[in-house]
Amino acid sequence: MHVCIIGAGVIGMSTAFMLRQKGVRVTVLEAGKEIAGGTSFANGGQLSYSYVAPLADPGVFKDLPRWLLKKDSPLRFRPALDPQQWRWLMRFLQLCRSDVVRRTTAQMLTLSYLSRDVLRDWQARFGLEFAHQSNGKLIVFRSTGPFEHAREQAQLQADLGSTQQVLEAGQVLELEPSLQALGTRLKGAIYTPSEEAGDTRLFCESLHTCMQGDADYQLLLDHAVHSFVREGRDIRAVRTSHGEIAADQFVVAGGMGSVGLLRQLGGQPLIYPLKGYSLSLPLDGLSQSVPAISVTDYERRIVYARLGQVLRMAAMVDIGFGGLDIPPARMAGFKQQVNELFPGLPLEQAQTWAGLRPATPSGKPVVGASQLAGRLWVNAGHGALGFTLACGSAAVLAARMLGEPVPIDDAPFRP
Ligand SMILES: Cc1cc2nc3c(=O)[nH]c(=O)nc-3n(C[C@H](O)[C@H](O)[C@H](O)COP(=O)(O)OP(=O)(O)OC[C@H]3O[C@@H](n4cnc5c(N)ncnc54)[C@H](O)[C@@H]3O)c2cc1C
Repeated sequence: MHVCIIGAGVIGMSTAFMLRQKGVRVTVLEAGKEIAGGTSFANGGQLSYSYVAPLADPGVFKDLPRWLLKKDSPLRFRPALDPQQWRWLMRFLQLCRSDVVRRTTAQMLTLSYLSRDVLRDWQARFGLEFAHQSNGKLIVFRSTGPFEHAREQAQLQADLGSTQQVLEAGQVLELEPSLQALGTRLKGAIYTPSEEAGDTRLFCESLHTCMQGDADYQLLLDHAVHSFVREGRDIRAVRTSHGEIAADQFVVAGGMGSVGLLRQLGGQPLIYPLKGYSLSLPLDGLSQSVPAISVTDYERRIVYARLGQVLRMAAMVDIGFGGLDIPPARMAGFKQQVNELFPGLPLEQAQTWAGLRPATPSGKPVVGASQLAGRLWVNAGHGALGFTLACGSAAVLAARMLGEPVPIDDAPFRP
């Protein structure tokens, strides 16, 4: 069988790798000039297996007015004359119910734990090199209300199999002394020792390196897929910037690019870009003043992770701000917040980046056989958790495609 995968981001590359493990011939078509040049390029790097609760939470109604009024808010919203934006938002708001949050969290945990198992297996067998670290994640709180809510969520997740520790302020500083600038503002933290981090782009490159030289693997960069060639209900080939490419099966794994492709076939995928930003700071001589453990500053929604010799900081959700420009005021606010937590970091040396999270309203990715055409599969819409969920999504899709037992109940993720 020959499978053509559209997109060489973390989802497309993981899908290709999983299918190769099963003996399938794969061709990856990538519009850009490099692997992982899209949203997988410089994201937060968190393998956030235990933190998969959806953004659509009843708490949104309480937080939203405050967020929208604050200049340096983690969330910005610009209404657009775009039916897609309003359809997405209406669905998102409908899902902000605690029963939905509980159900979605449980479903997402099955996929994230599968992802963790698959990645550990690949790591053991292939020794992938992507600045992988497994020293846990600390979610730090400055206000009592959210901290107490997190305590309850930790209890809910404990019932679903997560191991998390609730730490009071003193215990937090013992574990991560670099947070001392928070002083008395620090109320406590949730520590999850099993959480991991890594560089998503290096992960994709490492998968490519493992497959390179294999006669049944081909990566074609600079090959944008423009449309599909149909034969009755089935897809027979794709039209690319370099001509037609035929295959037996096709996987749409193009991140935000998936939307246009699926629309051509009459689909209306509710995948919307949630823009975010990151800073990457080389660590030369700074090791003492930055966290060793991955840290999330909860109220600011900023994540910090050491990825090899770089401190990666990622933050913010901008809705209705397409494009990949980096507004100077937004970046200045981001840097100021980082400096308050870790004073003195030379952030002028940091590399800035913007990316578009391909998000569904529920936060659940879309993984499986498309209803729009035969021989067509979708693996897209991973929102803020693409790295975390990539290996599990690849395992589900490959099992379905090959008619093998699917390792989890994948009904919640089907297109
Ligand atoms: C600021 C920020 C922080 C984040 N932090 C984390 C985190 O800490 N942990 C985590 O798990 N996730 C995180 N994410 C989310 C994660 O980065 C995404 O979910 C993930 O990268 C999506 O991967 P993808 O392969 O679907 O999309 P992409 O990485 O965008 O890849 C899709 C590829 O398909 C190509 N393509 C598109 N259309 C076509 C076409 N027609 N023909 C050929 N090629 C095409 C594109 O060029 C692109 O290279 C973050 C995202 C952002 C923006």
